Amino acid sequence: MQTSASLVIVGAGVVGCSAAYFLTKKGVRDIVVLDQGPLFDTGGSTSHAPGLVFQTNASKTMTTLSRRTVELYSSLELDGQPCWYGVGSLEVARTPERWLDLHRKLGWARSWGLEGCLLDAAEVARRVPLLDPSIIHGAYYVPTDGLAKAVRACEAMAREAMQHGASFHGHTPVIGFDTSDGRVQAVITPNGRIATERVLICTGIWGPKVGRMAGVSIPLTPCQHQYARTTPLAELGGEEREIIHPILRDQDVSMYYRQHFDGYGIGSYQHEPLLVDAEDILPPERAPIQPAMMDFTPEHFGDAWADAVKLLPPLGKTEIASAFNGMFSFTPDGFPLIGEAPDVRGLWVAEAVWITHGGGVGRTVADLMTDGVSDLDLHDCDLNRFEPHAHTRSYVRARGAQQYREVYDVIHPLQQMEQPRPLRATPFHARQRELGAVFFEARGWERPQWYASNERLLTDYPVPARTEWAGRHWSPIAGAEHQATRERVGLFDMTSLPKLEVTGPGALSLLQGLVTNQIDRPVGSVVYALMLDETGGIRSDVTVARLGEDRFQVGSNGLLDLDWIRRHLPTDGSAQVREITGAICCLGLWGPRARDVARGVCDDDLSTEAFPYFSARRIAIGEVPVEALRVSYVGELGWELYTPAEYGQRLWDLLWEAGQPSGIVAVGRAAFESLRLEKGYRLWGVDMTTEHTPYEAGVGFAVKAKKGEFVGREALLRAKDNVCRRLSCLTLDDPSVVVMGKEPILAGGNVVGYVTSAGFGYSAGKSIAYGYLPAELAVPGTQVAVEYFGEACLATVAAEPLFDPERRRLTV
Ligand code: FAD
Repeated sequence: MQTSASLVIVGAGVVGCSAAYFLTKKGVRDIVVLDQGPLFDTGGSTSHAPGLVFQTNASKTMTTLSRRTVELYSSLELDGQPCWYGVGSLEVARTPERWLDLHRKLGWARSWGLEGCLLDAAEVARRVPLLDPSIIHGAYYVPTDGLAKAVRACEAMAREAMQHGASFHGHTPVIGFDTSDGRVQAVITPNGRIATERVLICTGIWGPKVGRMAGVSIPLTPCQHQYARTTPLAELGGEEREIIHPILRDQDVSMYYRQHFDGYGIGSYQHEPLLVDAEDILPPERAPIQPAMMDFTPEHFGDAWADAVKLLPPLGKTEIASAFNGMFSFTPDGFPLIGEAPDVRGLWVAEAVWITHGGGVGRTVADLMTDGVSDLDLHDCDLNRFEPHAHTRSYVRARGAQQYREVYDVIHPLQQMEQPRPLRATPFHARQRELGAVFFEARGWERPQWYASNERLLTDYPVPARTEWAGRHWSPIAGAEHQATRERVGLFDMTSLPKLEVTGPGALSLLQGLVTNQIDRPVGSVVYALMLDETGGIRSDVTVARLGEDRFQVGSNGLLDLDWIRRHLPTDGSAQVREITGAICCLGLWGPRARDVARGVCDDDLSTEAFPYFSARRIAIGEVPVEALRVSYVGELGWELYTPAEYGQRLWDLLWEAGQPSGIVAVGRAAFESLRLEKGYRLWGVDMTTEHTPYEAGVGFAVKAKKGEFVGREALLRAKDNVCRRLSCLTLDDPSVVVMGKEPILAGGNVVGYVTSAGFGYSAGKSIAYGYLPAELAVPGTQVAVEYFGEACLATVAAEPLFDPERRRLTV
């Protein structure tokens, strides 16, 4: 075996093979792919997966990854054998709730450009004659879904990669890495050492174990999952073709099916999660069947067989011919792990990927490793997205198990995970509980969504009722809190906003090179800016406060920003970055009476002359030292008040007491969201991502291209005159319809975009939906429709922002 390589891929499952295929296509030569098992039936998860590919996903990125996968698999063949059977898919609904949800799912498909439709029960039975139509309402059908022959696809991709110089080695376990000087130097195998500057780990369920060899956390848990095959069905009459029936899901009972020649395969998620530690997976020589397979546990199959027979009665005349508990990976949030490790340069990861996304992920990781960027928004998939607690074994197992349980559930976008909670509490937690806060969770933080004690506000501020779906995980109290903020003053807990501190003599030039706006301004300035990738796509939006000559506080979107800044730190050590979110706490005091409240406990000059909009001052609230930023994401007069966490409760109490004469109200995140929406403030990750330029997203005002070089500037200059779509504000003609996001937007009967953020603007009195529209439609007054659960709801493009467009309330 060779002793050096330009790149070593560990794992020759569907992900490793697909990555090798795309990397060689992109011109990377001298790739070595290693697998502990035999090629290409390696004994990993790919070897035993039945290969069903359902492309539709709530996430646009995941749907695109699966579409690209289908494109790839259907283009491959191995010795004349196909790697893809495009038989289509059916997802049946036994319950009215599922049937409704399938309408929502069809909406996602239409939003993401995937063809699909709903079929009635009789039509479903025509396509799968084994099925009893009397127990279903109908099904969601996707004609381009189908079945992957994954091992065949692996070999076909590997052969192609080999033609371009890649070499594949079975029976070659990686047993260690040389990662000296903070970067990968070599891969160690029993057959010797391979020197390399780049490694890609694609070891599926073994990921945590292999990651640990390199000192890299790969937060996933292997999980068992049951799959059984029946004896032949008379109804299939000795069928010799592998599959002609559409693949099938019966999610109301957590099951799925595919045809295997004249038999059927049954997958069940009914059992409680059976988690395994990566370290406990038996080595190939000791595994009873295959390494990623465990013995079938009939006690966990429970009602699965009876449920299968109910949907497909002819199965009752068959028996289980073979069955096993396979293993595959679950992450805390159900998304894959893609990216370069934070502390070991050159060490890349593509983990927790289904066959369904294998081709798309291979292509994406190849793009990232060669060009440094992907055309897809990957923030949900980024290896570096997780907070420290999400890397602990306890958390990974708890959330991974929950992902398994919920894999087929109808999930409302606001539905909360119940465990492990509470995890991170702000210093205001006790006070919030006293006020009856209803907590939602984000990045481990408990955040009040609304306060039960504010129910009394509903007499002053009536709030329109909502439909059943939009009314879930919602309370009219949020609408009252919104209006009380606009009329009086609200107290918002902003502690969970991720904050970074950038310091040192090189801090200014580091940040200047990363953000779009001019931050070379006097101490005390606050600037809203964007961070772009090299293509001009929006990686993040940040609020940069210059608190000292060489000290900047950066309000960010989370750990991906920390990772991005770290990767750009000057090598001379002249700048440092660290996360300070938990060390300080923050209260937002916003509303027309905010100044009155603050004056009651603050002797500093809070006038606009002394303390203008978008500036920072060190002040005292009573005896609490506070760094105050005059900014507002809700569009009202006021400040973000930062203090070390230990002063938090005192800060709350002082403001609360001082605020009583002004009718101060504790306000939750639900109102925060509706306040920002009617002000047109963009939410990064939803309204704008790397897939959008600032000009498309309507935040071009934050770009000062003349200030000098910054990442993405060149691409942006090219993009400026080529804006084909624009983020637009729509108001629904019927204000009683509140949509949730991700719904298709129609014009002339065609899908022309999709909803990003949506909600109700209680001051504007409008149901609002933001979405990208072709530039020619992004004109106020244009009539469009938002398709909500299959209904076209008329909407009109509006001039934005809907509330206080002159920004009078911010600058008083
Ligand atoms: P794997 O295929 O497991 O490949 C990882 C490779 O790494 C293995 O070949 C292993 O030998 C190798 N390796 C590990 N450690 C080392 C080491 N130290 N040195 C060298 N090599 C190493 N997905 C779908 O999309 N559709 C389905 O219908 C479907 N059905 C499933 C049914 C079951 C029962 C199960 C368990 C999973 C199913 N999945 C399905 C999920 C899917 O199988 C996996 O997510 C996917 O195959 C993972 O591919 P991979 O390349 O990441 O991992």
